[in-house]
Amino acid sequence: MKLKKLSIYLVLGLSYFVQAQSGDQILDGIGETALVSRYVFDGNLKDWSRNNLHASVEGSEAVFVDDKKFKKVLSLQAKNKLYVSIPGETLNSLESLSVSGWVNLGSEASNQYIFDFGKANGGHFYLVSEVKDGKTNYHAEIVTKKGKQYEVGLSALPTNTWAHITVVFDISSKTLITYTNGKLSGEAKNLDVELETLFDSSETPNKLYLGKSLNSESTFLNGNLHDFRVYRVALSRRQVARIYYSALGGQVNERHETDNDLPEFTADTPQLYMKYLTGVSDIKVETTKGVLPRLPRYINGIYKDGVIGPKVRVIWPAPVDNSSVLNIGQYTVTGHVSGSDLQPKALVTVLKEEKVETPDIKLDVFPLNQVSLDIDEHGSQTKFIENRDKFINTLAETNPDNFLYMFRNAFGEPQPEGAEALGVWDTQETKLRGHATGHYLTAIAQAYASTPYNKNLQDNFKQKMDYMVNVLYNLSQKSGKPAKADGKHVSNATAVPFGPGKKAFDSDLSTEGIRNDYWNWGEGFISAYPPDQFIMLEEGASYGGQTTQIWAPYYTLHKILAGLIDIYDVSGNKKALAIAEGMGSWVYNRLSKLPTETLISMWNRYIAGEFGGMNESMARLYRITGNKEFLETAKLFDNIKVFFGDANHSHGLAKNVDTYRGLHANQHIPQIMGALEMYRDSEIADYFHIADNFWYKTTNDYMYSIGGVAGARHPANAECFTSQPATIYENGLSAGGQNETCATYNMLKLSRNLFLFEQRAELMDYYERGLYNHILASVAENSPANTYHVPLRAGSIKQFGNPHMKGFTCCNGTAIESSTKLQNTIYFKSSDNKSLYVNLYIPSTLNWTERGVTVVQTTAFPKEENTRLTINGKGKFDVKVRVPQWAKKGFSVKINGKTEKVNAIPGTYLTLNRKWKNGDTIDLEMPFQFHLESVMDQQNIASLFYGPVLLAAQENEPRKEWRKVTFDAKDISKTIEGNPETLEFTIDGISYKPFYDTYGRHSVYLDVTLE
Ligand SMILES: [Zn+2]
Repeated sequence: MKLKKLSIYLVLGLSYFVQAQSGDQILDGIGETALVSRYVFDGNLKDWSRNNLHASVEGSEAVFVDDKKFKKVLSLQAKNKLYVSIPGETLNSLESLSVSGWVNLGSEASNQYIFDFGKANGGHFYLVSEVKDGKTNYHAEIVTKKGKQYEVGLSALPTNTWAHITVVFDISSKTLITYTNGKLSGEAKNLDVELETLFDSSETPNKLYLGKSLNSESTFLNGNLHDFRVYRVALSRRQVARIYYSALGGQVNERHETDNDLPEFTADTPQLYMKYLTGVSDIKVETTKGVLPRLPRYINGIYKDGVIGPKVRVIWPAPVDNSSVLNIGQYTVTGHVSGSDLQPKALVTVLKEEKVETPDIKLDVFPLNQVSLDIDEHGSQTKFIENRDKFINTLAETNPDNFLYMFRNAFGEPQPEGAEALGVWDTQETKLRGHATGHYLTAIAQAYASTPYNKNLQDNFKQKMDYMVNVLYNLSQKSGKPAKADGKHVSNATAVPFGPGKKAFDSDLSTEGIRNDYWNWGEGFISAYPPDQFIMLEEGASYGGQTTQIWAPYYTLHKILAGLIDIYDVSGNKKALAIAEGMGSWVYNRLSKLPTETLISMWNRYIAGEFGGMNESMARLYRITGNKEFLETAKLFDNIKVFFGDANHSHGLAKNVDTYRGLHANQHIPQIMGALEMYRDSEIADYFHIADNFWYKTTNDYMYSIGGVAGARHPANAECFTSQPATIYENGLSAGGQNETCATYNMLKLSRNLFLFEQRAELMDYYERGLYNHILASVAENSPANTYHVPLRAGSIKQFGNPHMKGFTCCNGTAIESSTKLQNTIYFKSSDNKSLYVNLYIPSTLNWTERGVTVVQTTAFPKEENTRLTINGKGKFDVKVRVPQWAKKGFSVKINGKTEKVNAIPGTYLTLNRKWKNGDTIDLEMPFQFHLESVMDQQNIASLFYGPVLLAAQENEPRKEWRKVTFDAKDISKTIEGNPETLEFTIDGISYKPFYDTYGRHSVYLDVTLE
């Protein structure tokens, strides 16, 4: 019984309200990403979560009454025929479903529905009373459209007494479970129901009622409601108990305590190749004083029985500072290998401090309009073209006025005919509104640059860009200037007063509450809300739903500035640049006045201080304009704790200390990208080390096999890095999904940009992994709908959102960027135009205008293991082709049909140099093989790859346990059948497909035994 243990975590003290209002992402030990909506009902019907799924009362006005226990609660009286309605979107993107809430029943009548979700004549899920033998009992019930029915009772709910009820529909274990007052009441097993079919919203939308049945207009609930919540995961017994106990006045003080509900393995479970491993070589590394050594994560192993195992994954201790390297000399670090008793050692020599040379930028990228995606060599569409077209065609249909709606609203302007507000994170009261507009600006800029193949499309995007920029320019020009001739105004960004009639800054964006006095906002200001959130952040505001709280003002601003600069880059639109400069100066004026301690506090405030890549945008603005103010502003965004350890710059990532374990992944990756961008202009070496160290640690210690990096169970937030490095099994694989898609978008960007400085093939190996196995895999089959988290637990299913581009989460925003620039990393060139880098094997045409050369790449890769580059034009230059890390079966080169003698080492670039003639061909052959990639701290849990392509087991139904697979230790391909040209395989009768072609339930990780 785990409940006893729980009591030690309950500390009497602050009420949960204080915790709720602190804006913490962990509520009752449950990460915010698991919460779909929450209605406290303490005087309003607002959704307290970030999703803005506000409820409404039907029947008549809402009645709130005073209550001894919960102060103010919602009162439903059957005679008033009152009930609550919750938006249907609540049922989108669920992995499982949990509903919890407090009820105080006023009657023992039957047919009282506490909740009823679904459709009157279709499937639904409800909690209802029934009178039997003079007793009133409640039970939760699921009824499917086809008439299947499952029922679980609750403990008795006495009238006029508060009771906490929870109903959990756990998809992976196929159970329906009820709890009363934190204790288990009942359970039904073997449910044969999928949420997609139960709540199928393709024909009619679902309805969600509290206090009324979907079927009947005559029975209503008599009683009071308080703190009603919907979760997208199956709450565990401990989580339910915690919700109950913390509402009673205990504070749950346990950010690191959540349920470890992954299957556990005993210590003697064979972990893949480990049972054949007899030794691991010790290593020697050097470092300089103050800088933690970079210890290789994979070192050579010695295997027995003729097995050829891979390099051995070693897990090294991960110090939280640099105290171990403050003295010159030698010391030994001892590592461990999961599933083995071997303890490899690293002898570290600490040398005297010296300046380490950091690289200059050596490569240029090709503009998007110089590279086009082609159909494959058999005339078939590629996944790249399919996804590009889904996005480009839908973007072409969008109405720019929808993306300008909240900007006009902020400036008090009327909406043009046909303009509709976006939903999700851009609604009237959402404090992140405008974020989608920023992504949109980038997307239409990229779409414009990517569509020379279709003049109509290109004209369409040109018009959209110009229109968006003109409107935003006109709005930005109004800020800080008199509305009427000689009118009062405040042009100074640092002198913005409170809104008219207000006594403080606030984040009230409601129609009644929003301020529109743009003449007081300081010159150059542009956003989809007034300046208050920026100012409140400086004054200490936290993230949350109150009007004294904020979301992430600089995060939103980064998207807008990046979008404007992107438009300037592709079209030279000077107004776009002018808006960005105006707002850049506004930011400089405010931030340059703040003490360093204030900046440290701001940038370390969870979510509120999330600033995307503001440092990157400001560095870009400096590069374009030469205005040093902007580079100074970029530096003001230094995340000092993460970058340098503390204000004295004692250690941090600059000295290879992992200072970001447990932090929000996508909050921090763009900051690192910004550091690299600042290095490019400032040449401050630390900024390079920060980016380089971060990349190495993140791809080695936090990465899932698809290339995603976020998904912590500890801390309990699927958007965070695990609490300790190299502990994905112990602390990752969060329930409800991992791998926030934005994080991979940003990791790709960082990898690509690092490559411009250092041409290490591992950067592009990662790029290929993330591009094929996450970004391509994140898009729905028949629309541009896309993923937020990509869940990798056994039997998971991807959830896709935003098919019509009408309501964006962050990941829907980065998706419109990702799929409008799919060709941007296939080729790079050296800045002196003497070398061409071929990074990716994708059918495409490069127009290398500087050399007057066209390179056509013809292939069906990855459905074939070869590619051909045809050079049209002539000249002497290097062609550098990537020999992928996975190409261990060989890599051969033919030029004009003749085999070249090459020494192709996997994980390097191979240089082909000659005086190229028109029509020369280069044929590259790189046979694929099957290989396994393990989770570092539980190596029997592994993903199966064929070449670069991750193969997912196609599952017919949800599952709780990992899929077990046995392979031959000497040749894993022995038991795999199938067709490499379709990439469809079978193992033990189970079908495996590329993850990017998987739309149903899947197992990306398998429990592998070698024999
Ligand atoms: Zn995201």
